[in-house]
Amino acid sequence: MTTRTIGDITIECVEGDIVDQPDVDAIVNAANAQLRPGGGVAGAIHRAAGPALAEECAPLAPIRPGAAVITGGHDLPNPHVIHCLGPVYGRDEPADELLAACYRNALARAEETALESVAFPSISTGAFGFPVEAAAGIAIDAVVGAAPTLNSLRRIRFVLHGKGDHATYARALEHRLPA
Ligand code: ADP
Repeated sequence: MTTRTIGDITIECVEGDIVDQPDVDAIVNAANAQLRPGGGVAGAIHRAAGPALAEECAPLAPIRPGAAVITGGHDLPNPHVIHCLGPVYGRDEPADELLAACYRNALARAEETALESVAFPSISTGAFGFPVEAAAGIAIDAVVGAAPTLNSLRRIRFVLHGKGDHATYARALEHRLPA
């Protein structure tokens, strides 16, 4: 785990599974526009949450790239799920801005709900094809940039699938907030 603090907020990068983060108030879904189960992160979250999550999501869809909506966590250990639609790389422009908006809007939903902790996956870098090196820099910049404006959040975690992605996010965090 790589950790940095900014003010009274801790930012963590861990290698793991987004549906196995029982100590956070919300996990973030790398959703599709229709907020349907699908594959990757969305598939794992809907499988673990049970069918009631898709039922709660249906009237909230569709969402546009960069947007975020919050629901309950149903059978997940987390009380909430925040669903973000990342940009499809090469299609949704400006991709960098839309990806940063996902992170900012997810944090805004968490703050509106007075959450203390949230865990993000690597949005857009799976099926949506965003290069992970660039995505990591955008994600870390968005979260570090928003940190001084946050009131309720104290812990923001990035949960990366695989050693390579973990190393990339950890490097971006260390670069943005040198020890
Ligand atoms: P997108 O459609 O936004 O690209 P994906 O779900 O396809 O989202 O993938 C986003 C990233 O999340 C990829 O790097 C993928 O390897 C990773 N990932 C997939 N499943 C999980 C999981 N259960 N926990 C954490 N990360 C995951």
